[in-house]
Amino acid sequence: MSNTNRLRIAIQKSGRLSKDCQDLLKQIGVKLNLREQRLIAHSTNMPIDVLRVRDDDIPGLVMDGVCDLGIVGENVLVESQAERQNQQQCADVIKLSKLDFGYCRLALAWPQELGEQSKSWFEGKRIATTYPEILKQYLKRENINASAVMLTGSVEVAPRAGLADAICDLVSTGATLEANGLMQGETILESNACLIQNPSLQDPEKLALIEKLMPRLKGVKQAKE
Ligand code: ATP
Ligand code: ZN
Repeated sequence: MSNTNRLRIAIQKSGRLSKDCQDLLKQIGVKLNLREQRLIAHSTNMPIDVLRVRDDDIPGLVMDGVCDLGIVGENVLVESQAERQNQQQCADVIKLSKLDFGYCRLALAWPQELGEQSKSWFEGKRIATTYPEILKQYLKRENINASAVMLTGSVEVAPRAGLADAICDLVSTGATLEANGLMQGETILESNACLIQNPSLQDPEKLALIEKLMPRLKGVKQAKE
């Protein structure tokens, strides 16, 4: 548990969401000294600390109350909620806002040379993915009997390497799929970055600070529209 009275916000340290997260904090008036490559950046004008971590750790940090707020892709949030539910761990968060960055799709893909395929083709197949829980939920929903092969990276080379028949991976432009000779199929999840809050947060000062920041965040979002 956090033993500080400063509001703790978890963001991705380095990756696709980092710059947008830093820009957003700046736009809502949170001044940060981010020059140092430190885990924690203290705000110089508000009682806020920003923790810079791997995106995969963000949902857990917020669910466990180590951080009060977090910014993470819905893809990572949904996967980690399902994972934690399987382990009977707390998986609750309050979704404060969907943000206007980090858009991507989790889509199925298979070797191009096989041509167009219907859902029934997946029957009995092995599908490589970094999101086995989201994939399993989809397969269950669609009544497809296929197995998920968990890979944390290089998912797109799995069919060529003989590790799987197909993949379920994040896509934005489709260029990576094409470069790996894969044909894109159904989208099983659309995702944006979102701002989440620990549901047990009760500190009145922290809650008041969140109340103060939310209209600013809304204003920044509207200004971009
Ligand atoms: P970390 O080192 O923090 O674990 P990572 O390699 O898992 O980083 P990134 O590739 O930086 O993660 O992606 C972070 C998030 O950005 C993704 O989980 C997703 O929500 C979003 N995103 C947006 N576009 C894409 C894309 N084209 N491919 C992958 N992720 C994307
Ligand atoms: Zn990650």
